[in-house]
Amino acid sequence: DTRHGAILYLDDVTVSFDGFRALNKLTLDIGVGELRCIIGPNGAGKTTMMDVITGKTRPDSGSVFFGQTIDLTRHTEPEIAQLGIGRKFQKPTVFEAMSVHDNLALALAGNKSVWASLRSRLTGAQRDRIGELLATIRLTEQHQRQAGLLSHGQKQWLEIGMLLAQEPQLLLLDEPVAGMTDAETEKTAELLLTLKGKHSLMVVEHDMDFVGSIAQKVTVLAEGSVLAEGSLAQVQADERVIEVYLGR
Ligand code: ADP
Repeated sequence: DTRHGAILYLDDVTVSFDGFRALNKLTLDIGVGELRCIIGPNGAGKTTMMDVITGKTRPDSGSVFFGQTIDLTRHTEPEIAQLGIGRKFQKPTVFEAMSVHDNLALALAGNKSVWASLRSRLTGAQRDRIGELLATIRLTEQHQRQAGLLSHGQKQWLEIGMLLAQEPQLLLLDEPVAGMTDAETEKTAELLLTLKGKHSLMVVEHDMDFVGSIAQKVTVLAEGSVLAEGSLAQVQADERVIEVYLGR
């Protein structure tokens, strides 16, 4: 049973758009505490897969299990976020006019309005949590800086911190190091490695050096299905993988 010990199990998932199969009987599982990288050429179905997991797209058939019992295909997008799945899109979305600290305070406040959460005083526990989050995302020194003035990499880390404030069990990250400098990419690798274990992570990424530096196991998607799975070295040596990357 491939579901045993899995935080996420996609079972035979198919998604069609006007007869075109963006996902074609996709079966894939991620272990609890695992950091999995997903690679694959453009059009492979990576975004569609994340849309299915987060409830943005409903599959034509198949199931998506979160833990052992919850079928995500029966839940709405906001419910899935509440269940403990955080998604980060490529472009950082932080409150640019507010400080790093206040961005994290808002994320901790969750559903309350911006106005209500800024007016209410933080509890000691919330202050401690913000301190921990700042240390995790390495922005302690920048906590009073306006988020709009951060570097691109720092904004990405802040957004990861805002997701972590909601204590997700599973984090889905879409090209987290796109546009980063080499130094920022390296720091991001360190950050994600510290999250592994405590959280499960699914990272879609094109930067193969980065993938090699964080992932034990890599899944290659092509034409809506899993083409290969294994270490980066294994999948890069796989002729079918080489073909889908070169043959387009
Ligand atoms: P990837 O993220 O791996 O580049 P996508 O999941 O974005 O792949 O897309 C997979 C395929 O599905 C592509 O051929 C894309 O054109 C198609 N597709 C994705 N979303 C839609 C949509 N809403 N309507 C029609 N076709 C779509």
